[in-house]
Amino acid sequence: MSTKKHRIVTLRMLTASAVVGVILSAASVPASALISAELFNTQNLRRPTPWAWLDYGDHQIYVDQRSDAFYTHWESAIVPDGMEDPPGTEFDRPINDPRPRYARRAYTGHVQSIVSLSAGWPSRAASGRAILDGTPRRTWEDGLYRVTIGTFSHRFPVSPIWTGLLANAIFYATITLALLTGLRLIRTRRRRTRNLCIECAYELGDGIDVCPECGLKARTRA
Ligand SMILES: [Zn+2]
Repeated sequence: MSTKKHRIVTLRMLTASAVVGVILSAASVPASALISAELFNTQNLRRPTPWAWLDYGDHQIYVDQRSDAFYTHWESAIVPDGMEDPPGTEFDRPINDPRPRYARRAYTGHVQSIVSLSAGWPSRAASGRAILDGTPRRTWEDGLYRVTIGTFSHRFPVSPIWTGLLANAIFYATITLALLTGLRLIRTRRRRTRNLCIECAYELGDGIDVCPECGLKARTRA
């Protein structure tokens, strides 16, 4: 039998970590939405960064953001010029629109409001929007999925934020790989003290150079 090497990290561990990372990344979205404040009932969330009134000349955008560790709520009201008095000095006036792309919508010339939710931990990984557009006023939802079970009813954001999903997948995969590596090191140490092959747990006699079961060089056990 040919001799082989004992690897601390195997291909199987890498694959398992990647799969777990992807699953946890996706699962973090509904979990975060549930852990956080009830969707659309965001009074308890931290505010306001930013809290802004943006002047685009022909229209103005009021922007409010509230968030906690798991969840971000953007609210934008877009109004044609002159329809609403500009607010007082309590507003910051940032030069750039602070909203991420998923919280925006092209100006249609009407009064508009957009409520955008995003959830996920540690990064926001999915978003959804509720849009109101005027004359005639109509409302619709985009990327929100409602789950109703008995008296429980919740709206979950389901439109993917790919960068967030990827970042979370890497985050969870790294933690999983660290745990698997730790478990493997503990197992290796236990086998070594019991004079078993660290690769396949075959019982090794004294003076054996190569494991007769799997071909691991027994000398590498040191
Ligand atoms: Zn062996």
